[in-house]
Amino acid sequence: MIDVIIVGAGPTGVVLAAELRLHGVDTLVLDREPEPPAHVRALGLHVRSIEILDQRGLLEDFLARGTKHPLGGFFAGITKPLPPGALDTAHGYVLGIPQPVVESLLTAHALRAGAEIRRGARLTGLTQDADGVTAELADGSTLRARHLVGCDGGRSTVRKLLGIPFPGEPSKVDTLLGELELTAPPEEITRIVTEVRRTQLRFGAGPLGDGRYRVVVPADEVAEDRSTPPTLDEFAAQLRATAGTDFGARNPSWLSRFGDATRLAERYRVDRVLLAGDAAHVHPPTGGQGLNLGLQDAVNLGWKLAATVNGWAPPTLLDTYGTERRPVARGVLDNTRAQMQLISTEPGPVAVRELLSELMDFEEVNRHLIGKVVAIDLRYDLGDDHPLVGRRLRDLQLKRSRLYELTRAGRGLLLDQTGALTASRWADRVDHVVDVGEQLAEPAVLLRPDGHVAWAGEDQGALDARLREWFGAPTP
Ligand SMILES: Cc1cc2nc3c(=O)[nH]c(=O)nc-3n(C[C@H](O)[C@H](O)[C@H](O)COP(=O)(O)OP(=O)(O)OC[C@H]3O[C@@H](n4cnc5c(N)ncnc54)[C@H](O)[C@@H]3O)c2cc1C
Repeated sequence: MIDVIIVGAGPTGVVLAAELRLHGVDTLVLDREPEPPAHVRALGLHVRSIEILDQRGLLEDFLARGTKHPLGGFFAGITKPLPPGALDTAHGYVLGIPQPVVESLLTAHALRAGAEIRRGARLTGLTQDADGVTAELADGSTLRARHLVGCDGGRSTVRKLLGIPFPGEPSKVDTLLGELELTAPPEEITRIVTEVRRTQLRFGAGPLGDGRYRVVVPADEVAEDRSTPPTLDEFAAQLRATAGTDFGARNPSWLSRFGDATRLAERYRVDRVLLAGDAAHVHPPTGGQGLNLGLQDAVNLGWKLAATVNGWAPPTLLDTYGTERRPVARGVLDNTRAQMQLISTEPGPVAVRELLSELMDFEEVNRHLIGKVVAIDLRYDLGDDHPLVGRRLRDLQLKRSRLYELTRAGRGLLLDQTGALTASRWADRVDHVVDVGEQLAEPAVLLRPDGHVAWAGEDQGALDARLREWFGAPTP
């Protein structure tokens, strides 16, 4: 029996696979498509995801393939850059990097870690019993695993098979997206795009080089089947309707459409089966958050599911995945709902946008809104009033290394200034680092494998209680 089957080799699925492999969990990823998608959805990564890449030793490869951009300009497209150093992070930038590149780097990481990825394998059915899950594939074969995770996107088969309700709002507007050649002179394209974007923020054209552009334009209706791409004629007609010209559009490399449905799964787990990424939540792409949210789901879930498979998880550990991550997704859904209002062309929302734009001149307001999107302000409610508990710890220069260099193996970490504490009975799960240096403002901090603080203080009894809560029973 396989330990974990992951359905979907998108960014969420492959990150989860790599996280499970850190703990030796036997992991098989299935994807219905024979090849990874070539079309580009996400264009970049936000601060918390960049920090996670650093925590797992992947950042250099991503920096080599991406471009750093200043923070700001992505809350409803309101361009108010934040000064460098305004956010409490060592990575205060947006990393521009197309989704297919992100997926190929993350897939290579999962494969190096020992995950198996099987393409052309579509899940069609599943049943579960006391010992495991049986997955049925389209070719009639079955597979057996102890757990299964649906990372199979917004139309998740796993979610539907589990019968988990997916309440929210259906799409009200569709947008066409494509990469194609525009033969009009570049100056004319820039002039018209700038002019039209004064009132229509769902339109845009960004140059890709060699006369090619990534173009977004509102569709004239909500499609019944969004998996059917628009034709070039349809795309050009929408350009003419929005911008008064189709810019001589031709030779598309791909065309697609997306909606603004906003929905959150009612549960993230039914017994041995879980959901992560778009399978658990969908929302419009405003602010560029979906891929980031899925990646962060995977890092929250990975060590908890691994602990369950490896037999040391406290009984409540796996359920903390849903109790921690559902409220985070709800917050993202709400900020995208707000952003969709703010990019509406109706006079009321336009006036609110003007007002918000003025307010964002106050750095604190700007920081607050950007903090939501880049996901470094979030705090899991771990039932402890200490201001650090539940938050992720930013990278710090410690005496002998950087903090994030100590988190590569995805183990627990006790940072201890006091030198008087011990976690030796959890030494197989938690590393203990003493003499850390003054950058750590607390006497001691216990970090979970996802980089969030589980405890801060100096009392051994309180530390033991938290070690048991997150890392299970001590070794005898
Ligand atoms: C236009 C657009 C722009 C976006 N821009 C951004 C951005 O800038 N930043 C950002 O963070 N996010 C962005 N997003 C969102 C981002 O693309 C998604 O949130 C992200 O791809 C979700 O990853 P996932 O792995 O959860 O799901 P997916 O990427 O959808 O992957 C799901 C996988 O499951 C497979 N699958 C489905 N059903 C089955 C089955 N039955 N059996 C086997 N395999 C199956 C699919 O083939 C697919 O490979 C954007 C989205 C759109 C549409």
